[in-house]
Amino acid sequence: MTNKYDYIVIGGGSGGIASARKAASFGVKVLLVEGKHIGGTCVNVGCVPKKIMWNTAELAESIHDASDYGFNVEYKNFDLKKLKGDRDAFIEKLHGIYEKNLKGSGVERINGFAEFVNEKEIEVNGEKYTADHILISTGGYPVIPDLPGSEFGITSDGVFNLEKIPAKVAIVGAGYIAVEFAGILQNLGSKVTCIIRKDRMLKEFDKDIQNFLFEELVNSGIEIMPNTEVLAVEKNDKGLLTIKTKDGKSFSEYDALIWAVGRNPNVKNLKLEKANVKLDEKEHIIVNEYQNTTTKGIYAVGDVTGKKGLTPVAIAAGRRLSRRLFNKETELKLDYTNIPSVVFSHPPIGTVGFTEERAIEKYKAENLKTYKTVFTNMYHAVTKRKTKTMMKLVTLKPEEKIIGIQIIGIGADEMLQGFSVAVKMGATKKDFDETVAIHPTAAEELVTLS
Ligand code: FAD
Ligand code: NDP
Repeated sequence: MTNKYDYIVIGGGSGGIASARKAASFGVKVLLVEGKHIGGTCVNVGCVPKKIMWNTAELAESIHDASDYGFNVEYKNFDLKKLKGDRDAFIEKLHGIYEKNLKGSGVERINGFAEFVNEKEIEVNGEKYTADHILISTGGYPVIPDLPGSEFGITSDGVFNLEKIPAKVAIVGAGYIAVEFAGILQNLGSKVTCIIRKDRMLKEFDKDIQNFLFEELVNSGIEIMPNTEVLAVEKNDKGLLTIKTKDGKSFSEYDALIWAVGRNPNVKNLKLEKANVKLDEKEHIIVNEYQNTTTKGIYAVGDVTGKKGLTPVAIAAGRRLSRRLFNKETELKLDYTNIPSVVFSHPPIGTVGFTEERAIEKYKAENLKTYKTVFTNMYHAVTKRKTKTMMKLVTLKPEEKIIGIQIIGIGADEMLQGFSVAVKMGATKKDFDETVAIHPTAAEELVTLS
């Protein structure tokens, strides 16, 4: 017997849960299928445990700075096992909240991995389920490169299993995850080496951000090996790792190696060919601006589509899809422009809209005016340790519409959300100038730039 639903959602992560609950709020019969833990990447091995680790690392920095503020505090040691226990318990609590919310919304939920039988039908644990509308929100998984000895390394998933801070750790990759874990582990006592295949990290970001980040990472004690590619990894009888690179170098005695070289979409187990759902060259599910796949009645949102791999993006796309399908908002779709994002480095990075380089490519330099400031946050007034803040507004002439904000510095993470609203609304430099500053803050610099 086949079980009939109005809407089937495959994947109980950020996008899937949001879409399922929104659909159920319109009274449709929804089934959510999740193969692992409810909450997906963000809750279990992403944003949530990462943010706890980032907070911990921020605290470590504050403890180091505390004596400069007159406190008689000494950083003695850090117990990752204790923190992990509390972090895991918090995630367990979130599981309960998610399950309760799903139930409260009227979403039916089953455990298991789904695969397609045909365009309208899936199978889970030998049972068949059918619906006119099916959403694929299966997310992704971290890549381990195909190199001799690569199995000796761990990925971001493995970092969350650590119970002890590794004394010496190498991180390969130059994206969000490499940058975030480098800062976290360095602050918590590891000696971190970043192995990057180009000259800078976060290559898609504004050049000034890349350069300031590089400087901050080095100042914090992180070793960066630019233009370096890994050839092989070896493990000695003490369990320590040696990393051999293509240019003949060798880095020895690492307790851990973290691969942070990107994520691949979870599509292999879905039998998409049975539903005629097509993939692009990187195996992301092809969707149009309405999240429609190449098969009518099948949709995809979130990381599996390869578009802006961020939790709020998956959520926003999933909710809009349900409103379009089940609430007669027939033209509704997610606007993928001006999506703000934060890299939880030390100090953090906030970015929305155009980088200066992209703006020049699109509008030409003569049509742009860029405002920039570099300063030391007042937090450092009495600390020996210093970090820099860099802020940049990219504006489009003649009215100087703000088309990009780039920030690296203390507080950038919490500063950006409100400013993104202004950018989304089309604010100009004059609007910023006419806003009275809040003093003394770092954010006030954004409305006093000249
Ligand atoms: P996911 O959340 O990955 O959910 C997909 C779910 O589908 C999984 O639970 C999986 O088990 C399930 N699944 C897969 N195949 C099947 C199947 N066949 N049947 C049933 N279920 C299946 N984003 C931010 O915005 N801010 C951050 O600070 C941030 N930090 C991050 C830190 C790390 C270390 C990582 C790895 C990611 C981070 N992200 C962050 C990205 C964010 O986690 C993802 O963009 C987001 O989780 C994507 O949501 P999703 O719904 O597309 O997929
Ligand atoms: P990213 O796609 O951000 O970066 C992958 C990095 O790996 C690139 O910098 C690339 O460097 C490098 N790389 C790729 N292949 C190799 C290789 N063979 N050898 C060496 N380096 C290689 O992936 P992440 O894994 O860092 O993160 C995945 C996604 O998760 C992010 O893009 C983001 O969407 C999301 N995320 C969001 C966070 C947030 O919002 N704060 C935090 C963490 C993750 P190169 O420059 O050389 O091409």
